[in-house]
Amino acid sequence: MNTTSELVALTAGVKAFVGQPHEALIDGRWQPARSGKTFEIYDPSSEDVIAHAADCGKEDVNLAVSAARKAFDTGPWSRMTPSERGKILWRIGDLIEANLEEFAQLEALDNGKPIAVARAADVPLAAEMFRYMAGWATKIEGNTIPLSVPYTPDAQYHAFTRKEPIGVVAQIIPWNFPLLMAAWKLAPVLATGCTVVLKPAEETPLSALRLARVCMEAGLPPGVLNVVTGFGESCGAPLAAHPGVDKVAFTGSTEVGRLIVKAAAHDLKKVTLELGGKSPNIVLDDADVEAAIQGAASAIFFNHGQCCCAGSRLFVQEKIYDQVAEGVTRFAASLRLGPGLSPGTQMGPLVSQTQFERVNGFLTSAREQGAKVATGNASSRTFKGGFFVEPTVIENTNDSMRVYQEEIFGPVVTVSRFKDVDDELIRRANDTVYGLAAGIWTRDISRAHRIGNRLRTGTVWVNCYNIFDASLPFGGYKQSGWGREMGHEVLRNYLETKSVCMSI
Ligand code: ADP
Repeated sequence: MNTTSELVALTAGVKAFVGQPHEALIDGRWQPARSGKTFEIYDPSSEDVIAHAADCGKEDVNLAVSAARKAFDTGPWSRMTPSERGKILWRIGDLIEANLEEFAQLEALDNGKPIAVARAADVPLAAEMFRYMAGWATKIEGNTIPLSVPYTPDAQYHAFTRKEPIGVVAQIIPWNFPLLMAAWKLAPVLATGCTVVLKPAEETPLSALRLARVCMEAGLPPGVLNVVTGFGESCGAPLAAHPGVDKVAFTGSTEVGRLIVKAAAHDLKKVTLELGGKSPNIVLDDADVEAAIQGAASAIFFNHGQCCCAGSRLFVQEKIYDQVAEGVTRFAASLRLGPGLSPGTQMGPLVSQTQFERVNGFLTSAREQGAKVATGNASSRTFKGGFFVEPTVIENTNDSMRVYQEEIFGPVVTVSRFKDVDDELIRRANDTVYGLAAGIWTRDISRAHRIGNRLRTGTVWVNCYNIFDASLPFGGYKQSGWGREMGHEVLRNYLETKSVCMSI
């Protein structure tokens, strides 16, 4: 196995930030949990405890929701012009960029992702998300609508719609892209003029807390953004169920997505969900084979497979199956594993002990069910601890095996052979409860369109994979979610439409 271990030196800013107490942000003030409790934050590359954060519960959630309500109803935020909101968002983008190295180090330390990836992707994408949404703040418009009311033939009306912020929004985010998921959620909700209570994942709260400081520095008034840190059941659940919350926006597992829907059902809160996936990545026999091999491997091993859209089911057409399977296996074996903070790391550890055990459970089940593990046979703790799992390629699966059916959320890909496109491939690719994303590798653009149109997924990548942009909507069909992130479509998640009809 390839490894690397030399670490970048933490900046003074990161050291100071990590070393301080990590409190909740409520009504513009940093405060400990009412209970006084804290929980431990780990570096998944070493399993060392690096910090403690406020273990917020129901009482803290109540305070945060009240602060968000007050800021929505009466605060300066509700009187700001869209342009003023846009300028604050733009400043947040600038400040993220100005602190790029600090954010990248926090992500590498807290989540275990390679620092090179955090510098090149997570942090710049987060900055761009705020800038993109800064532009939308001034472009949230209704329509004027001509009426033809049959029972008042002589009357005239002036009718129009207004797009209004939905109110107090609870946002619950996962640990796989801690900063970027916070940016995907916060930038649009702030553009619309809503107020927020954000709950980062308990595994990775640091960059969201740092981002909250940046938001305050950029001029966000107190109470507009509140951040509560804590666990799913004790902090997330009361937030999702809180009667003072108008809308819950959640990203995470499909399983917890169902709990969110149940929690929101009591008072019929609006809900959007960005959930799991088991995305098919399809290599047709006319593809550029080398590009497809690289693309298929990156589709699954990027972020250690901890992506809801990871290309975890690779389908390869018969004629080139051996070549592609062998190429992806070779690629997997060549990846350099290492701590997030090592500049040479291509793949870091999984985020937690729980994930480590979950992914290993899948590997055990694959072996027990008779699949062939072509590489990454052993998961291992290579360094001084750390939740490392080797990139793993599995062949000889059948379509009923757990590794083929269920979301693994780790660096594990199944490779399956197919013959026929029209019946076999489309049926198998769509044969999943999920519908988040898909990839197609081909030189024939007509085939790409014809297949892409029949895939029941929110995104189709052709001859590329994992391409994200603030302007491009992302979200799922079927059990992969409700609603879309990014693009102007995301604004719908946080707006109500008011119809105004005036007799003139
Ligand atoms: P994963 O399974 O990938 O760890 P989860 O879906 O469990 O992701 O977690 C995503 C987010 O949802 C985290 O912030 C977590 O604390 C939160 N969460 C977990 N359980 C609940 C729950 N019952 N209600 C609300 N939020 C929850």
